[in-house]
Amino acid sequence: MDKIGIDLARWYKTQNYNFPWRKNNTPYSIWISEIMLQQTQVLTATPYFLAWMKKFPTVNSVAIADIDDLLKSWEGLGYYQRAHNILAGAQSIMNQHNGFFPKQYEELIELKGIGDYTASAIMSIAYNKPYPAIDGNLKRVIARLYGVNDLKNIIKKSKEHVADLMTNQSPSIINQSLMDLGREICKPKKPKCTDCPVKKFCIAFNNQLIDKFSIKTKTKKIPAFDVSVGLIIKNNHILISKRKKNGLLGGLWELPGGKLMKNENFIDCLNREIEEELAIKIKIIKTIGTIKHQYSHFKINMRGFQCKIKSGTPKPLASDSIKWINFNEIKKYAFPKATLKLFDIIKND
Ligand code: SF4
Repeated sequence: MDKIGIDLARWYKTQNYNFPWRKNNTPYSIWISEIMLQQTQVLTATPYFLAWMKKFPTVNSVAIADIDDLLKSWEGLGYYQRAHNILAGAQSIMNQHNGFFPKQYEELIELKGIGDYTASAIMSIAYNKPYPAIDGNLKRVIARLYGVNDLKNIIKKSKEHVADLMTNQSPSIINQSLMDLGREICKPKKPKCTDCPVKKFCIAFNNQLIDKFSIKTKTKKIPAFDVSVGLIIKNNHILISKRKKNGLLGGLWELPGGKLMKNENFIDCLNREIEEELAIKIKIIKTIGTIKHQYSHFKINMRGFQCKIKSGTPKPLASDSIKWINFNEIKKYAFPKATLKLFDIIKND
């Protein structure tokens, strides 16, 4: 086993993947990068990470930040609950740990949004402690390398093998080398086995059983919704509403509106939604356009309408708050991608 660890560590040092979070491997930078990298490719996450670190260089700068600023920095990354959890985690570090980043796994896992994987990544990469961080990539690498076909217990088995590799090698390097191997070489489809630093030990490769040890993830069918939204204009200002914190796209701002009910058309839907959400009646002036967008859990077909108020004063009946803003101010607020696409149509109109 030690030979695998030696070859992995040697290979890791020759690869030089200079990701910005690896510059100094602080627990704070590993925490933020690992949360950003959940469900997100390295290339996509990198500019977000750099911008975040510039704006929020310390745990304290996050803890005292406004959630709107954090969400603005997260805009486009998806799974916005992650930004809420980072805020809660940073506040716990400042208030319950006197501003010191927790050094124990048991303390880390108590922080909001930190599970076994992230706690183990921080323990191993930042503190160089033998905590295997097992994600989908690692499970695949270990299953192939060691010929593990007991997929029900793959996490337990993977932890045992990785912990074994960590006994004589730096846990930080072992975890990162396995992450790099899974991402760059031992890919789900067509692994680059000839370039693999541990191919001579690999059970799947040497027995031509790679397909047998490929962990298949089921792809779920994503639901699609038709959505109607209103650009309500008054005195050169538009009305935006803030989504409730704990739902999908929680805490983001949007144009008021909602999903079409069965047998409902876009216009009827908008009139109904606006009355339910804001307690006003509107007059629809014109159609702005229709955009399509796919989020991680659903896709939408969103049609926007320019409107004005016919009667009533808007109240936030279904949102956290509402606001009248100048169109030039939209860049100050975090909006879902679909709303931004609709704004692009308006800007180019
Ligand atoms: S030899 Fe191929 S299957 Fe085995 S660990 Fe390396 S890349 Fe993965």
